[in-house]
Amino acid sequence: IESKLPNVGTTIFTQMSQLANEVNAINLSQGFPNFKIDTKLEDIMANLVRTNAHQYLPMMGYNPLRSAVADKIQLHYGRKVDFEKEILITAGATQGIFTAIQALVHRGDEVVVIDPSYDCYAPAVELVGAKPVHINMEKGFRIDWNKIEAAMNEKTRMLIINNPHNPTGMMFDLSDIEALEAILEKYPEVLLLSDEVYEFIHFEKEFISINSREKIRERAIIISSFGKTFHITGWKLGYLVAPDYLLQEIKKVHQYLVFCVNSFGQLALAEYLPQTDLNELSAFYQQKKDFFTAAMKNSKFELLPSYGSYFVTANYSAISDLDDVSFSKWLTTEKGVAVIPTSVFNANKRDDKVVRFCFAKTEETLQQATDLLCKI
Ligand code: PMP
Ligand code: GLN
Repeated sequence: IESKLPNVGTTIFTQMSQLANEVNAINLSQGFPNFKIDTKLEDIMANLVRTNAHQYLPMMGYNPLRSAVADKIQLHYGRKVDFEKEILITAGATQGIFTAIQALVHRGDEVVVIDPSYDCYAPAVELVGAKPVHINMEKGFRIDWNKIEAAMNEKTRMLIINNPHNPTGMMFDLSDIEALEAILEKYPEVLLLSDEVYEFIHFEKEFISINSREKIRERAIIISSFGKTFHITGWKLGYLVAPDYLLQEIKKVHQYLVFCVNSFGQLALAEYLPQTDLNELSAFYQQKKDFFTAAMKNSKFELLPSYGSYFVTANYSAISDLDDVSFSKWLTTEKGVAVIPTSVFNANKRDDKVVRFCFAKTEETLQQATDLLCKI
């Protein structure tokens, strides 16, 4: 049959995790934690099994959970959200992103995507018959906002940003946000999709959520994921924040894509979320990042700065001339540590000889991995 996505293969995360399993390598590729979740959350989940938690919840999500999310948004970003009209619980950030794009982008529209970009954006745009317009970041993972502006025209329907950024760990400065606002002011029809799944994982720099930006949040779809915040990537639960006039449209797609998302996770998180201090997460990951960084000092990898997410990238030019995909496979099969090549996040496959490590792992795993990496 004629493929609707002829250029799409199996995601690099699946490929590298599979390879890691096949050759029994330490898996620092696909982003997921390998440590236990909070016992409080385990207990809540265990207690739910014998309750009446097994049936459909309301289409837009369990109200106590939506309300708890609204409270966190108020607490962290000072934004008052009407949870009944402006919050949708999704099956992970992936479904939130896909649903928003299906609902809001039309055939023939253009969507500006900043590369390296997370891999689910462009296919979702292509599937509606719209065109992703890819702009590469500069060296040093900076965005040249003049290039973003130059990519906009009357066909542009959406701009997608990701902050803190996967795979680079880049975070927007206030000057980035101001440049973004200035561009959006010139294009009042353009929507902003802000992927903030790592909103609670950042180091040294302050995180600026679009939730805190009065001017642009009225046309923004903000995406988050409980997977990242509570070490529960397999639960596939996240949320989307958007003004009522956008959520009305998003809801139409959501109800026929999934109707509602799984009950257990929502009930558990409704109880757990209000009891948690989300400010602790950054310190938790800072320790892991510091541990990994210190251990990598004795390696030939040149670690690049990461200010957010649980990823850090590294240049491997001192080790090999291989392209980054071949190098990642070699590292996995020959040296026992799986990583993610970063060229796959670039539509033009630009290869900077940079790979991504996930440090959301136990110290024991990080120690074993860095021991191997330092021998190369
Ligand atoms: N966006 C980014 C930037 C991500 O890194 C991820 C997952 N790693 C997602 C979206 C998808 O999140 P989820 O697993 O909640 O669907
Ligand atoms: N977002 C995770 C990562 O960047 C992977 C999620 C997935 O495998 N779809 O590694």
